[in-house]
Order: sequence, then structure tokens, then C-alpha cells
Amino acid sequence: MTKRYQLQVLWGLTLLIGVLAILCTVFAESLSLPSPAVTAALVAAYLLIWHFSLPAPTVGIISLERLPQIATLLVVGPIESGLINAIAAIIWPFTNRSYSQGSWRIACIRALHNAPMVIAIHLIAGHFYELAGGRYQIQTLQAADLAPIIVLALTMQVSNTLMMTLFFRLDGRDVTRLLTPIYALADLLVVPAGVLTGLLFLTLPTSTFLLYCGVMLALVVSVSSLKDRATQASVPSLAHDLSGAMRVDAMAQSVLDRCRMLFAFDEFFFVLADREQDEQELRLLHNGDEQLTHRRRPMNRGLFGQVLKSGESILVSDWTRADSKLRQRVSMIGDPPGAAMIVPIKLGDETIGLVSLQSNTVDTYSQPDLYLLEQLAEQIAQPVADARAFEQLDDYKFRLEERVNQRTAALEQLNAENERLVRKLRRRGRMLERQNREDALTGIANRRCFDETLQECLAEATAAHKPLSIALFDIDHFKRVNDAHGHLVGDQVLRRCARLMERRLSDDHLAARYGGEEFAVLLDHCDLDEARDLADSIRRDFENERWQADLPIKSLTVSAGVVAFAPGMSAIQLLAIADHRLYAAKAAGRNCVVVDSTE
Ligand code: GH3
Ligand code: MG
Ligand code: MG
Repeated sequence: MTKRYQLQVLWGLTLLIGVLAILCTVFAESLSLPSPAVTAALVAAYLLIWHFSLPAPTVGIISLERLPQIATLLVVGPIESGLINAIAAIIWPFTNRSYSQGSWRIACIRALHNAPMVIAIHLIAGHFYELAGGRYQIQTLQAADLAPIIVLALTMQVSNTLMMTLFFRLDGRDVTRLLTPIYALADLLVVPAGVLTGLLFLTLPTSTFLLYCGVMLALVVSVSSLKDRATQASVPSLAHDLSGAMRVDAMAQSVLDRCRMLFAFDEFFFVLADREQDEQELRLLHNGDEQLTHRRRPMNRGLFGQVLKSGESILVSDWTRADSKLRQRVSMIGDPPGAAMIVPIKLGDETIGLVSLQSNTVDTYSQPDLYLLEQLAEQIAQPVADARAFEQLDDYKFRLEERVNQRTAALEQLNAENERLVRKLRRRGRMLERQNREDALTGIANRRCFDETLQECLAEATAAHKPLSIALFDIDHFKRVNDAHGHLVGDQVLRRCARLMERRLSDDHLAARYGGEEFAVLLDHCDLDEARDLADSIRRDFENERWQADLPIKSLTVSAGVVAFAPGMSAIQLLAIADHRLYAAKAAGRNCVVVDSTE
């Protein structure tokens, strides 16, 4: 037997001897148990109440046992009520597998401890009750009874709590977390019901009292329906405002807290199996004061890997005596820990995680502890799976959002690229359009542009009866420039000619390069006289231009044929007349403007 159980047995025996000594010496003569039927009924009442009671997570402290305790104590006195309570306390661990953690040894230890403990509680409480002036066999309640009853309830509560805390301390558990005001209140709340039951037992006819017991039974059973909710409430709430990851972390923390109440340990592990990534996810690792979260390891690593794969618990009471296969799997560095328990969290056949406790002291854990931890793991499996599902949903949502953002960014980039391309194409289009209508050498309009514009202006002039003229210019003896100075200079001269053509023109006019060294000028809204004047001023500009300033030629002249539009004339006819007059100008000796066909 481990040291821990030895201590518990020793303490139970001490209590037993103490209680027996008091019973034999002080109360031996006055001992008178109620009839066997009443005693059996009371014992049954205890068992019933414990069965349907609200469990403080797996330690069985919160119950409605104050009801029969107070009632019996007030009717038959502390020794007898203590003894009846003790009979029930001996039977209970052997009938409740959960309370005895599935172990006969634990059942014996609990019975050995609880029986003398409840007698002691009754003796202590009865003693203080009497000191406070309390009466037994009360048939009519008086104001003076109130204070002793409060003393009775409080001493019972305090002595019970202290003794249970001590017992669990010997078991290596920290149950102080359970000693909340709610816990104390739950026990104290049933004290009035206990007093009432005692009173009614003494005053009511048996049949009416049995009816009352039936009502109380219904009450106890209905309280039992709260049990499931209490159990659920002891695992972390799945409140909707918690994100999936927070739910799992809260769950791990809650399991750690529960384990603190139930077991002694130096290291606590809460691990989830990430089957997708084939990894163990150490969600909570509590090591003394240090708390680590979110670590990952390969799925098959160590004993955790074995448990996650097989779904079977592992209990190691003493590492030095452990199976060599187990020791190999752990590949421990330095001194191995004393004892360990690893329990899978299973949902159906699937192992979704595990809880592990490790202690530096050998024999800290035995089969009953493993049973208890397995029960805990079973209880938390569904909430853990739910929390995990939420977490995965959150994760999926996050990844989806990220993907959408990435796609949006890519689309935006593509859009920007497209817009840039469209802008480039437009620019290119404009350039091509210009190239299409522009003379590459001089930069003024080309023949195509001139012809199109002429068509438009002709239509307009016909419709609006407005004047329109054209002048065709041809540089005189241009061949000589080329011959004397080369084509490059000839090009430069042509560019200068284009500037001279444009210089005199307004927005209504259009100068175009019509062919090699021929220029055409469209003079919209100009009659023949105006056109002749303009053509002649251009001719004079050529004559007066200071060519030699930047070109190797001294002079250059130009001849022109001018024609005015008359209704019914086509563009071809107009151009033909202009061309004809241009030839006439050449024939007339060049450097002149011809405006009629007779010259
Ligand atoms: P005319 O007074 O009778 O018009 O004499 P011309 O020498 O000007 O006439 P011709 O038609 O015999 O010669 C025109 C010359 O213009 C021939 C050609 O080499 C030149 N020419 C035509 N286009 C270009 C051009 O783009 N660049 C250069 N440098 N010369 C050109
Ligand atoms: Mg020519
Ligand atoms: Mg010429």
C-alpha cells in the first residue's frame, strides 16, 4: 500500500478509535437506536440523498445530507443519529463505483474514514448544540430554539468541511477551490428542511409524515436533474462570445483546475491531436509555476504518441520499475519522473486528445486515480470536441478571408495592370492617328488629312453657302537645293517651308504637305480675293525669308495656284484647277500666284 493510502487508513483508524472510545466511555449507557425499521429507512434515505445529490466534481461533498442529519439528530440525539449516518457511510462507497473510483481498496478506505468522521461530526455538533441550550425532541419550535439550531448547523458544516479537507489533503488533492460560499450555502440551505422534518416526524400521524417524505423525495430527485447542469457548468462555458481558440484554452485551464482538486502532480499536460498536420498540439503544459501553451510535436513522438494512436490509457506508478518498452519510448533525459498517468480524450472511437499528469514522487498514482482521470476525460470529451470544431471553423474562416484578400489584391493588381495597358493603347492609338494624319518630315498635316478635311469643308460650304478656297504651292527649282547641298539640307529646307506656310494661317485654315515639295493650303471661309492675298503674302514671306541665317541657301521662291469653290464643284475638280493654275504660275516664270485659268 502506498504512503498516501497508509496515511488515510491511519487517519481513519485514529478517528474510529477516538469515536469508539467516546461512545464506550461517555455514551455507553444512554445508547438507544430507533427501531430497526426506522433505522433502515434513515439509512436508505442517506443512500438515496447521496445518490441524487449534487456532486462537487467527483469528490462528492455537496449533497443534501444535512437534511437527514439535522432531522435525526434533533429527534434521536447525536450518538444515535451519528451511528445511523455511519452505517450509511459504510455502505455508500461499496454501492457507488464512481465515489470509490472503481476500487475496493478505495471503498474500504472511504468507509473506514467516513463512518467515524460522521459520528465525530454529530458528537461535536451535538455538543455545541447542547452548550447553546438546544433541545431534542422539539415538537413546537420557539424563538429560543433558533440560536442553538444555527450553532448546530454551523458546527456541523465547519467540522465536516475541515475533516473532508484534511482527508483529501492526505489524498494529495487541493479541494480548497471547492470551498466557495455557494458550496457552504448549498448545505446550509437544507438545514430548515431538516428541522422541519424532525418536527413533523414527532407531530404528524405516520401516514401524513410518509406523504411528506414522498414530497421530499420528489424534491431530492428534482434537485438531481440539476446535477447534469452542474456538471456541465463545471466545464468551461461555451459562451458564444468566446472564439474557438479561446474556448479550447479555457477548456484546458478548466481541466487543469479540476485536476488540482483531484490529484497531486508536478506536471500537467493537455494535448490535442491535430490529425490534419499529423502533430501533437500541446495546448497547456503546467510545470510548477510555469505555464506554456501551444507547442507542437510530431504525432508519434513519445508516450503521448502511443496514447493518441492506441486510445489506451497508460499508468506508471514508478518509472524505475516501468516496462522497458515504455521507458524506451519516452527516451528520458536525466532522472525519470516518479509516476505518470496518460489518459486519452475519446469521442466515440476517435482519440481527439489526452490529459497527462506526472509526479516526481513514486506511487503517486494507482488504478483508482487512473479511473478518476478517465472519468474526467470522458466528461470533457464532447465539450473539447465542440470547442475544437469552433476553433477549426474560426481557422477556416480566417484562411478563407486571407484567401479572399489575396485574390482581391491580385485582382486589383490585374486591374491596375489592365488600366495601364488601356492607357498605353490609347496613347499609341492617338499616336497612330496623328501619324496617319501628320507628315513625318514637317509635322504639318499630310495629304490624307488635307483630303478628308477638304471633303468636310466642301460639304459645309455647300450647305451653308460659305466661301472656301484652296491654294497649291510648289517650291521653285527645289531640285537644285538637293543637288547643291544634299537631301538632308533639302529636308531642313522643307521643314522651314512648312513653318512659313503655317505662319500666315488662322485656325480656320489648314496647311498640308501635298507631295514632295508641294504644299496645299485649305482656306475655309475665304473667297478668291482673300485667298489670293494670303497666298501672295506667303509667296512674299518665301522671298523675304533670311534663309542663309541657318541654311546654306541664299534664296528660295514659291509658286502658287489658287482656286475658289463654286457650288457643284467636287474636291477633284477644285484640286485639278488649282494644279492647273500652279503650272500656269510656273510657266509664267515662277515666284507668282495665279488665280484664274486664263493666265
Ligand atoms: P520646279 O520649279 O519646276 O518645280 O523645279 P523643281 O526642281 O522644284 O521640280 P522637280 O519636280 O523637277 O523636282 C522636285 C524635287 O524635289 C525632286 C526631289 O528630289 C525633291 N524632293 C521631293 N521630295 C523630297 C523630300 O522629301 N526631300 C528632299 N530633300 N527632296 C525632295
Ligand atoms: Mg514639284
Ligand atoms: Mg518644284
